[in-house]
Amino acid sequence: MIKVKKRKFLLLPGDGIGPEVIGEVKKIINWFNKNKSLDFEIEEELVGGASYEKNGTPITDEVFYKALESEAVILGAVGGPKWDDLEFSKKPERALLKLRKELKLFANLRPAICFKQLVDASSLKPDLISDLDILFVRELTGGIYFGEPRGIKPIDNGERKGINTHVYTSSEIERVARVAFDLARKRSKKVTSCEKSNVMEAGQLWKEEVKTLHEKEYKDIELKHMLADNCAMQLVRYPKQFDVIVTDNLFGDMLSDEAAMLTGSLGLLPSASLGAKDKNGNMRSLYEPVHGSAPDIAGNGIANPIATILSFAMALKYSLDLDKESNNLEKAVQSVLDEGLRTKDILSKGTKEVSTSEMGDAIISKLQ
Ligand code: NAD
Repeated sequence: MIKVKKRKFLLLPGDGIGPEVIGEVKKIINWFNKNKSLDFEIEEELVGGASYEKNGTPITDEVFYKALESEAVILGAVGGPKWDDLEFSKKPERALLKLRKELKLFANLRPAICFKQLVDASSLKPDLISDLDILFVRELTGGIYFGEPRGIKPIDNGERKGINTHVYTSSEIERVARVAFDLARKRSKKVTSCEKSNVMEAGQLWKEEVKTLHEKEYKDIELKHMLADNCAMQLVRYPKQFDVIVTDNLFGDMLSDEAAMLTGSLGLLPSASLGAKDKNGNMRSLYEPVHGSAPDIAGNGIANPIATILSFAMALKYSLDLDKESNNLEKAVQSVLDEGLRTKDILSKGTKEVSTSEMGDAIISKLQ
């Protein structure tokens, strides 16, 4: 068998159900290594509360540098009541913020996928969301959450003034739009760009820069501009009109949460955060489920590992260009759901309850 080059993953299981769901990803990576001669190299390190307990910090410099050198970081979840009262710099969540910021992960990818087997979990009519597959590309390091000036200041009449600044530069817009167009080329070649160009100058610039890039380099992609408030309505009216949606940090935060809820359970939602490509085409990336550490069910072996497994499938596709393997993994998840196997969080009448590890094993058996 021909061996391909070694690909390095850093696994950061974290806290709560993190180690349980990452454990299932580990089994899948080992399966790929054994059966598909994909020579994945994995390292595993502590992060979050687990790291704080051992090292007094939510992420050590050593682990941080390992993250910088990995082709992809796969994180479980961090946090839990045990660490709620720690000072801000020691809180488990600081590890995640540090990774996102220092790895310069400016593009947050959140798919809103509705498996037809789980349509009943949605609040929308089944025919509107069955087989829904939208990919959100949210700008993650700019816009109103980071813009200066900001703060709360006293003003003359004894009142106070709260200030945040919505600011984007051309290059910040262009690099995230490029990610969206490139991803659309791997999908249905349709991008919807959302802003509020009718009332905001930064929105006007957003629209112009996306349009210019499209005309210069991505004429093969169908581009539509949509006002963000209209997008919020269209998502519940007829969500299947969308393929890739690219938008800024603020609108992306809200619209991707809205779309995620169309699809039902938290245990099924993966995410990816991507940085810029270097001159060799490599990029920094972090993959993680949308859910948290679920301390209420940790240690019981009932957590749903699908969100983390689908996050790994995203890593195969977006960081390693292994589209075939990624699609096979997604199909394996579908087949298991088709057979009626469910973890407790998505259990419904007529389906069979399985544990975290039985779900992982069933998915692996479909890969065979
Ligand atoms: P949560 O996502 O951990 O849990 C919310 C609810 O969903 C819980 O009832 C939980 O049991 C359930 N749930 C979540 N994931 C599940 C899964 N895979 N399978 C089955 N059920 C699942 O959110 P929370 O309770 O608000 O937060 C708990 C802790 O997680 C907090 O410390 C919070 O700060 C942290 N958190 C971390 C991240 C992250 O690491 N990215 C994200 C969100 C919250």
